[in-house]
Amino acid sequence: MSRAFNFSAGPATLPEPVLLQVQRELLEWQGERASVMEVSHRGKAFIACAAKAEADLRELMGVPDDYAVLFLQGGATTVSALLAMNLARAGQTAEYLLTGHWGEKALENAKASVRTHVVASDADNAYRRIPDAAAWTRAADSAYFHYTSNETIHGVEFSSLPDVTDVPLVADFSSNFLARPVDVRRFGMIYAGAQKNIGPAGITVAVIRKDLLGRHGRELPPIFDWQNQVKNDSMFNTPPTFPWYVTGLVLQWMRDEGGVEVFARRNAEKAALLYSTIDGSGGFYRNPVDPAARSTMNVPFTLHDEALDKTFLAETEAAGLMGLKGHRALGGMRASIYNAMPLAGVQALADFMRDFAVRHG
Ligand code: PMP
Repeated sequence: MSRAFNFSAGPATLPEPVLLQVQRELLEWQGERASVMEVSHRGKAFIACAAKAEADLRELMGVPDDYAVLFLQGGATTVSALLAMNLARAGQTAEYLLTGHWGEKALENAKASVRTHVVASDADNAYRRIPDAAAWTRAADSAYFHYTSNETIHGVEFSSLPDVTDVPLVADFSSNFLARPVDVRRFGMIYAGAQKNIGPAGITVAVIRKDLLGRHGRELPPIFDWQNQVKNDSMFNTPPTFPWYVTGLVLQWMRDEGGVEVFARRNAEKAALLYSTIDGSGGFYRNPVDPAARSTMNVPFTLHDEALDKTFLAETEAAGLMGLKGHRALGGMRASIYNAMPLAGVQALADFMRDFAVRHG
């Protein structure tokens, strides 16, 4: 058996050079005579590893000095709950723009800590487009404006930033983090679970404008107050050292490959190939999303006859194309084509899809 092209939505495919490096250094890491999993996070070697991951992230993303970079536990879900406590005073309003499942979840997670206001939602349209800014209803005096940069299940992605400059913009970039350049200065906070674009599950990155922290006026358990994480370089308690280390290797790999612009070009090419295969199939395959909001990372699609789903999945697996089963909420298929998915993988999928449509059309 050899490794397949893995289209899983997350945890997702990792770059092979990174996995090989992990394998090479697993037993003895950095002359420590133990693996990275077995040494103190307070030791010199791990502190250096953590600092390098942060420095590489800052360089790749262009993070200004007045922004903190945190490496947190609990996944994007926990961060979506904690951000409400950290960025808003009790009773203050926060705005949410809903373009899919994960925006809804972030809203639910914030409700215990803030008054929430839905600016606009495409739920009635089954989340197939980004609501027109002309139809948004804004709240007065809100603490922040939250949106999901890429909806992993619905395959809806913002191709440009929402035009919000009056309050801090907060964005969940879990499934398109470092997929293309972003102007960090436009944001109050950006967060992302690592397990799609930059590493394994178990660590979540948050980039936060420092002056936004410490305004909440709440009595928070110290572990939930991000000021303590900033002061302690994300080591207020034992951090997830292994995912942090692997994430650092992925960031180094991204630098070696030429940085975020290179990935943006590759991602555009991969997405164009897949969407043109779907759109050119004469209705055999369909993607329901407004072309202007189609995701370059997660491509959901259905087959013209649901009865073919099982055959499609069995045949793709046999052809070395795995993880294509769609989310249970939408059914059908979903191809996740994150940074670590090579063009050759998408080419193999597109070729397979054309052939399958001929055989079963
Ligand atoms: N936001 C988005 C956009 C996601 O795709 C996911 C996970 N699929 C989450 C949040 C939740 O992340 P986690 O499982 O790390 O809490």
